[in-house]
Amino acid sequence: MKTQGRPTSPVAANDAMQPKTVSGNKALKQATKLIFETGTPRRTGVDLPEPKGRASRLGDHAREGEIGLPGLSEPETMRHYVRLSQKNYAIDLGVYPLGSCTMKHNPRLNEKVARMPGFADVHPLQPISTVQGALELMHELSHWICTLTGMPAVALTPKAGAHGELCGMMAIRARLDADGQSQRRRVLVPESAHGTNPATAVQCGFTVDEIPASGDGRVNLDALKDKIKSDPDTVAGIMLTNPNTCGLFERDIIEIADLIHAAGGYFYCDGANFNALVGRVRPGDLGVDAMHLNLHKTFSTPHGGGGPGSGPTVLSDALKTHAPVPYVVQTDEGYDLVEHKDEVSFGRMCAFHGQMGMYSRALTYMMSHGSDGLKQATEDAVLNANYIQASLSDVMTPAFGGVCMHEALFDDRFLKDTGVETLDFAKAMIDEGYHPMTMYFPLVVHGAMLIEPTESESKGELDRFILSMRHLAEKAKAGEADMFKQAPVHAPMRRLDETQAARKPVLRWTPPVETAEAAE
Ligand SMILES: *Cc1c(COP(=O)(O)O)cnc(C)c1O
Repeated sequence: MKTQGRPTSPVAANDAMQPKTVSGNKALKQATKLIFETGTPRRTGVDLPEPKGRASRLGDHAREGEIGLPGLSEPETMRHYVRLSQKNYAIDLGVYPLGSCTMKHNPRLNEKVARMPGFADVHPLQPISTVQGALELMHELSHWICTLTGMPAVALTPKAGAHGELCGMMAIRARLDADGQSQRRRVLVPESAHGTNPATAVQCGFTVDEIPASGDGRVNLDALKDKIKSDPDTVAGIMLTNPNTCGLFERDIIEIADLIHAAGGYFYCDGANFNALVGRVRPGDLGVDAMHLNLHKTFSTPHGGGGPGSGPTVLSDALKTHAPVPYVVQTDEGYDLVEHKDEVSFGRMCAFHGQMGMYSRALTYMMSHGSDGLKQATEDAVLNANYIQASLSDVMTPAFGGVCMHEALFDDRFLKDTGVETLDFAKAMIDEGYHPMTMYFPLVVHGAMLIEPTESESKGELDRFILSMRHLAEKAKAGEADMFKQAPVHAPMRRLDETQAARKPVLRWTPPVETAEAAE
């Protein structure tokens, strides 16, 4: 049967070089089809008695045809999902050096606390008196976040980094409008910024004015001054990441904050890279007005396929009155929720109170590390990135000189004239057993490879990773471009047509034509 929705691989012909098995299984890896192709609506994994005395209240609306859900027995279901999980790379399998994403170990203690019934089994509409513990946890988390960032207030509810950006920029907009400054609609964004920054600004009705980078990968201060000077009355603010997406500390950050404030604008800091600062630098001391944290990056709550995000956003004194509802307050009687928007709050970020499971995991991480442990995690993250940069700088080309912060950024100069491109190098890493680093981001670096090891990795693990990277860099230089163009050869899927998959995603399974006709 023709498989639906799977783009054909440009190197599919090379698969012929690999001996095929009749089963489709390879070594001890079991092949698995879509669950709709394996199951049949007539099979079931449960045995329930027929309900007695049931009268349908659906009238004409009752479904007549088959529901069409695949039926599988319990062992078949288990096998299906375990087989799928084996095709996935995970932080629990090995180094996950995806830069900017901070893929760190998710401590199991976090999971244990998140599953406690008082946190996991509460309902958002339960009476306040019955969820005092959950509210206390949210209040305590807010306290830790405000302390670590040096900021007076936090909106916990945003559900991801990008959602936190939206929260911060809406607070800035609400403040500007409240002050009769609605002509301020220009947001300065460095060209190395994460794509969510300009997207958020535009979503909030601002226009984006791009600031070029200087030769050393940081904000070009003179260009920034010119941008402000050209029309200071239209400046709404700046969106800046620190350490920036090149993994470098913006040394002029205080001057940048002062310039923006002097012009009448606000400073939004993208806090996705907070893992390089926790316990060492408080963004509040740098003049930040709003910043989101990615609990799912810095504070070890699972992300990607592993769980939802959470992007609490800290706000300065100037912005905190515009904070979204709901938020937790402590009263003489205990904890309470402020649910209703007054005339200054800009409204709500989500229906209820945000991602409770992420709150409990993040607070567990903070409390189990303590202030000394959090600081050490930061220092080890920066040390690990520098160890990688230093260990590879003779065979690969670091994009900028000097030490880096929590991620090491390489460009593709070392691949010049080898016929190997960043993409091929990344695919060869898959054969070596590693999830590729972030590639082609930031855009300001040609053929960028952004590696973030985090503090989770031991020296032994880092050394193994470095050995693989050195080996690949040397192979590329030795003229083995062919090997790279074939890669990955050991992966369950080879090279997919990513353009086709992005432009024409097939998200819905439809029964094969033969069966559909037979049923009619
Ligand atoms: C991850 C990231 C974001 C967005 O966070 P999400 O939780 O994925 O929405 C924004 N900026 C930077 C620099 C990031 O690394």
